[in-house]
Amino acid sequence: MGKLFGTNGVRGTTNDGMTSQLALDLARAIGSVLGPGKVAISRDSRMGGEMLSRAVVSGLLSTGCSVIDIGPAPTPTLQFMVPRLDCVAGVMVTASHNPPEFNGIKVMGVNGIEVSRVVENRIEDVYFEKSFKVASWDSIGSVQGYDTALREYIDAIKLKVDSDSIRKRGLRVVVDGANSVGSLVTPILMRELGCKVISLNSQMDGGFPGRNPEPTPSNLADLARVVKSVGANLGIAHDGDADRSTFVDEDGRILWGDQSFAIVASRVLSRRKGSVLVTPVSSGRLIEDIAKNAGARIDWTVVGSVVVSHRLEEIGADLGGEENGGVFYPEHQSVRDGAMTAAQIVEIMAIEDKTLSTLVKELPQYFSTKTKVPVPREKKDSLLGKLLELTESEERITLDGVKLVYKEGWILMRPSGTEPLWRCFAEGKTQVDADTLCQKGVHLIQQAVSEM
Ligand code: MG
Repeated sequence: MGKLFGTNGVRGTTNDGMTSQLALDLARAIGSVLGPGKVAISRDSRMGGEMLSRAVVSGLLSTGCSVIDIGPAPTPTLQFMVPRLDCVAGVMVTASHNPPEFNGIKVMGVNGIEVSRVVENRIEDVYFEKSFKVASWDSIGSVQGYDTALREYIDAIKLKVDSDSIRKRGLRVVVDGANSVGSLVTPILMRELGCKVISLNSQMDGGFPGRNPEPTPSNLADLARVVKSVGANLGIAHDGDADRSTFVDEDGRILWGDQSFAIVASRVLSRRKGSVLVTPVSSGRLIEDIAKNAGARIDWTVVGSVVVSHRLEEIGADLGGEENGGVFYPEHQSVRDGAMTAAQIVEIMAIEDKTLSTLVKELPQYFSTKTKVPVPREKKDSLLGKLLELTESEERITLDGVKLVYKEGWILMRPSGTEPLWRCFAEGKTQVDADTLCQKGVHLIQQAVSEM
């Protein structure tokens, strides 16, 4: 059986891999598996978004599902609306942070969380077998527009933070919406929370003229410059579908994702005794320190935001997060939510009356290194067994790849999902520690290859 879904939905080059035909048949499969019932849909600003979402609508209707189109919106807005509108599913046309020529489809279940691997497999089976449900002529679904989703979502976030304190602080914020759907929410949310807002790349444009939609440091040079030149207190940048936020401090320094995650985590986890944090094994010592100081417990998962979301719901945890800056706040919703994270950061700055650079300085400091090790394709999957054998006597976590834990840091070795290589991440108290540990990981992988 073929494979459609990657880490977060189906992705491909628009009108090449990601065609209207694929969208149509994928939607027929989604409707067959998750229907009957109402399905909410949305899209980001990408080229081909209209083409693909109309194919999705047609496919869903043919299975007897009806469709509620909330219009262009961030992925977390759609996720928030799925249960609110009593939908059985949600479909988002987006390729998140991928380059402009890509588009894709994310599928949410009844709770607004992206469907699990098991459900993806069922959808793939129907897609490849073409065993679609076909509604009879008199039970084809209908389409309804819904134009208050953005308003309801913004209002819900405002209720989850201390608006009065934020208003009193009068922060000056630059928002870089990546020429996509983050611009429809975050500038308005910040303004309504009483911040002075300067917008960057705020017109919807699937050509992404402002910057590449991935909020990496090299793509955020303009934002960093603007924050400094207008004397703003912080900058907020979203990825293409605004489920993530990257922050820039008042000096124009771009925060690492795990730093903003740690700033939010230290406050949320210390609100009650015995809090639980869900995070993938790729997260580092910083977040372990934060959890320890807050008296919280960490529940480790395999790498991937969908797994974190499902785990949060399963055990009723207090917070989730990823080292790439994805923060999950279940009190709002158990998915990554860029605008919610932005509201939490300005709330912390306001209540504690601290600059963002001070909040960063207060965090424990660690250093990291990552590298790739080429591995022959035929050995890529079986390498894990050999690595487990070689590291048997070490302190380790083996949920996803092999994570070796030492006093001075850790090494995580994982196979790439798509390429013939293994990735090696290491973290230490100094850069030298991190580099040394990373080298050790590389040697282990090479030793495993040669002994196989
Ligand atoms: Mg995204």
